[in-house]
Amino acid sequence: MTWRPSKSAEPIRLYREVYTSDEMVNTYKEVQNIPLDPSSPNVENVVVEILVYLDATRLVQFGMASAHPVYLFFGNLLKYICCQPGSHVAHHTAYFPQELIHAVWMLILNAAFMMAYQFGILVCFADKIVHCVFPCLFAYMADYPEKILMAGIRNMGICPCPWCLIPKACLSALGTLQDDNWRKKIWVNSHHLRAKVAIARDIIYRQGNHVYANVVNDILKSESLIPTMNVFHTMFANFDFNTFLLFVMDLMHEFELGVFRDFLIHLLQLLYACGVETIAEFDHQ
Ligand SMILES: [Zn+2]
Repeated sequence: MTWRPSKSAEPIRLYREVYTSDEMVNTYKEVQNIPLDPSSPNVENVVVEILVYLDATRLVQFGMASAHPVYLFFGNLLKYICCQPGSHVAHHTAYFPQELIHAVWMLILNAAFMMAYQFGILVCFADKIVHCVFPCLFAYMADYPEKILMAGIRNMGICPCPWCLIPKACLSALGTLQDDNWRKKIWVNSHHLRAKVAIARDIIYRQGNHVYANVVNDILKSESLIPTMNVFHTMFANFDFNTFLLFVMDLMHEFELGVFRDFLIHLLQLLYACGVETIAEFDHQ
């Protein structure tokens, strides 16, 4: 979607809905190349973008019992509809016990889902037109602890970010050119990562070593990995789908709920570093 401020001006790309993103547009183009079902030749292939949101919830008023309710949204819907509390677009899908989160995901990404993911599923829409629907995971929105749990990396390990490979020692370079370069090095759910986890699991479960044993750490620690069999890495291993890119920023948890204070302090320090006049100008504004 583009906007032209005047007839002579260059069109400007607008970023507003999930379904106008590059990701969605490219996925739509990709599914057009998948041959149509011979039994229903006049059916259009379409993409349904699935957005997953989960957050830890206390189950009791006293005590520590908690679970992770999962809500599912469709990125094909207008964001203004998704934001309305009464629109019933958040589908309450499951409760995940933290220790079994990968096992429960394995039940959700079952053979039927993977068939639909690969070959599509015929669905009759409300306008009585049948489409071949390809469900795609688009975003996984959660707090940092839940994100790293699904990414399969260590909590504040050597590489603490579930998206890029920035080392913890370089986090203080936030906002610099060097930081920019680090962020371009992203995680990829490669065969190399899966093989390392498989070797570590073999050492633990077959050879009887402790999960924190040096021999396990020697394999996993340098890349911040954990010996958990990651359901996303396993299920999408044969597809061109980097599941690390699902872990998008959660604006509410990672920015608005307190982190903004630290961010502002860092910005002020940058302004001080640029000279006293800059901070005076900031105060003035
Ligand atoms: Zn990062």
